[in-house]
Amino acid sequence: MNQRFHSVRLLEEKCKGCTNCIKRCPTEAIRVREGKAVINPERCIDCGECVRTCENHAKTVVTSSLKDLETFRFRIAIPAPALYGQLGKGVQPGQVVHGLLSLGFDAVCDVSFGADVATECTRRYIRRTPSPRPLISSACPAVVRLIQVRFPGLLPHVARVESPMFAAARLSRMEVSEERGIPPEDVGVFFITPCAAKVTAVIAPLGSECSYVDGAIAISDIFGQLSEAVASGVTAKPLHAGSGLGVGWAGNGGELRALGLSNTLAVDGIHNVISLLEEVETGRLRGVDYIEALACPAGCVGGPVSVENPFVARVRVREVADGLLSEVGPDTSGEVAAILDKHGEESFEILGDIPALSGLELDRDLKTAIAMMGQLEKVLADLPGLDCGACGSPTCRALAEDIVRGNASETDCMFKLRERMREVAEELLGLTKKDLPAMGRRDGK
Ligand code: SF4
Ligand code: SF4
Repeated sequence: MNQRFHSVRLLEEKCKGCTNCIKRCPTEAIRVREGKAVINPERCIDCGECVRTCENHAKTVVTSSLKDLETFRFRIAIPAPALYGQLGKGVQPGQVVHGLLSLGFDAVCDVSFGADVATECTRRYIRRTPSPRPLISSACPAVVRLIQVRFPGLLPHVARVESPMFAAARLSRMEVSEERGIPPEDVGVFFITPCAAKVTAVIAPLGSECSYVDGAIAISDIFGQLSEAVASGVTAKPLHAGSGLGVGWAGNGGELRALGLSNTLAVDGIHNVISLLEEVETGRLRGVDYIEALACPAGCVGGPVSVENPFVARVRVREVADGLLSEVGPDTSGEVAAILDKHGEESFEILGDIPALSGLELDRDLKTAIAMMGQLEKVLADLPGLDCGACGSPTCRALAEDIVRGNASETDCMFKLRERMREVAEELLGLTKKDLPAMGRRDGK
């Protein structure tokens, strides 16, 4: 499995080298070189922050399309609960199911039901895992990648529960295969995604060699067709419908609301997540057992390939969730318990390794890394400390690091360049005053 696959890519022809994206990237993965942004694949966590930031639309998310459905005999859509926040006020899950069927899918399985399964698995995981604390939700793959790249010491804190997407994919593929006698490989499962990081997780799943999802289709790509189909008002039923609490996972705080536990904390927005993880890393955060951390503002409703304003979408998702809670109650617990009895809760856990990913360390060899750090500090002390970004690196420290790694030179800094030009100009001026030996006079006048 390709652990370095990335869904976020640069459209070089659109990039103007404006440097806007380099400062927003949470892992300092972007540099501007020769007038174009360059993404370092070792550092990128596919958070999509640069997709949101780039006004020239030069960053894109590579996803599947409806055409890819043709490869499979039976096609299942697994829509992210965030989709319910995108399609206008009052649109109900049954209408969305009908809309997806009319786009060419043969069945729909709600990822909010996968969230109900994940909720129960997480409760059990927290109960039987007394340490370390706090545990950190693994639901957002951008956050897990962030931990792999930037906070590897926190990897033991990641709760090893499969995401709602994988739970829904696994269940629906098995059920369709068993009940209709279709070989599992002929069943295509497609996630309808607001999220770039989940597109990556489909290709390179966490702690697993195989993916239960065959592709991810961006909400923004099917929004027009889906809106038209939904407008008919016709409804249909999914293979599994999620509870209101499952739907609520789409917004920040939704997972915690579903868990219903105390001593928990929710954080959203990748830069807020970083601040909080720094507190966990340094041991300053105490008395918290579980953290829900989502990379996108307002949660998955704010994913980079969604269409609606995240805060409007969050309100819509809450309306759908509250509607479901008051109409039919939150209770999918019997169905979830039966599934966990049948398949075993370990079927919904991340059993493989979640390794630390290199990308930020200066060298694998500790001695060399320490020596390079010394050089870096020296170079940095000589830079102006303005973090202007004109050199194409996000900060002066990042430029110092690039210099030490041999990927940039001191004169990429325009202040150092100006200093060097002045020195050269003074040298040249000195030379203009110097007489050629043949022209000089003995008395020096
Ligand atoms: S997707 Fe995120 S981590 Fe990757 S380059 Fe863009 S901002 Fe940086
Ligand atoms: S918050 Fe949700 S949409 Fe955003 S990166 Fe994480 S999982 Fe994806």
